[in-house]
Amino acid sequence: MTVDLFVPLLRNLTLVATVAMLYVLVPKRSPWIPEPVVIGLICGFGACLAMADSVQLRPGVFVDARSTMILLAGLFGGPVAAAICTALAAGMRVYIGGAGLLPGTLSIAIAGAIGLGVYYWLRRDGRPVSMAHICILAALSPLTFVVVIVLPWNVVMSALSEAFVPTSALRAAGILLLGILLMHERRRVAAEDRIRDLANLDELSGLANRRSFYRALDRAIKAHRTSARDFSVVILDLDHFKSINDRYGHPVGDEVIKNLADILRANTQGNDVAARIGGEEFAILLSGAGRDEARKISERIRTSIAESEITVGMERIPFTASLGVAATSTLTSSVNALMSAADTALYIAKQGGRNRVVVEASA
Ligand code: GH3
Ligand code: MG
Ligand code: MG
Repeated sequence: MTVDLFVPLLRNLTLVATVAMLYVLVPKRSPWIPEPVVIGLICGFGACLAMADSVQLRPGVFVDARSTMILLAGLFGGPVAAAICTALAAGMRVYIGGAGLLPGTLSIAIAGAIGLGVYYWLRRDGRPVSMAHICILAALSPLTFVVVIVLPWNVVMSALSEAFVPTSALRAAGILLLGILLMHERRRVAAEDRIRDLANLDELSGLANRRSFYRALDRAIKAHRTSARDFSVVILDLDHFKSINDRYGHPVGDEVIKNLADILRANTQGNDVAARIGGEEFAILLSGAGRDEARKISERIRTSIAESEITVGMERIPFTASLGVAATSTLTSSVNALMSAADTALYIAKQGGRNRVVVEASA
């Protein structure tokens, strides 16, 4: 009895393609299903498919790509993915039943342990999967053969002599192929995320940039027109910022901007958008906030800013900001009307002595 290499190879390729395709189709960064769960489910599904399509070497001794899937689940998704994938594959093996149940389930558990071992060895610190990781996993994958220790001696000898080399080669090839596909897909998604961040975020502060603020404002206006959902905009400008730059230098000014960004992040939530829309000018969209609520939040932000300071050497540098507020609850809602009302309010806050909040209707 010989293993016909060509047919299992083709089956392996089909399976790899199916699993890779599923992984590409599943939306990444789903807030509901964490990525390790996705990996565990998809690889587990792949392992079950593989087992439904086994080559039987002799009664109870099956050869298929299940361990390829289980090993990769561990490497890519860590303990959660390994547990899900191993449980699915073991469940499938029990469902298939028949001879070889013990070595079958044991080999599944061993593959799970090896994948997880490689994960803890190489990726514990959260580094992304690399080509080297995949090669190491492929090189270690023949270890799944230790399961032969529970088989009778005569079966071991013939199983090893017939199956060890071809199945090890197939498994290693499957790991390389599917591993590389998954790695590339992950890199592509990560690159997309980076590009999106570059387009939407302000580099210095990490807040939204001007463009994404106006886009969010547009969306909020549309939602306000259809569902009358109130919101407010706040424009915030650092007070006498030029003198901080002049006195302590530009890098210190940058520190102030970062500090202010932290304060804005701490004081916004949910669908609020805090943005840096100019050099030392910021804007906040407070969703669901009417005039009074917006005044309260703005006052809280102003106080946090006035109470904070940055230290340069021994010197403590306090800073303040002025805020202008406009609410849809008191204005005809258009982007321009809101922004210019908030701007006028800000101007009055500056005229009034700075470090203060002015709300549009009281302007
Ligand atoms: P006011 O209270 O009237 O707003 O006074 P101001 O000094 O804050 O306003 P002004 O418009 O005169 O100066 C703004 C300063 O902001 C000038 C500019 O050098 C500084 N600035 C703009 N962008 C940055 C930046 O990214 N980093 C630093 N450090 N400074 C910046
Ligand atoms: Mg200023
Ligand atoms: Mg300014």
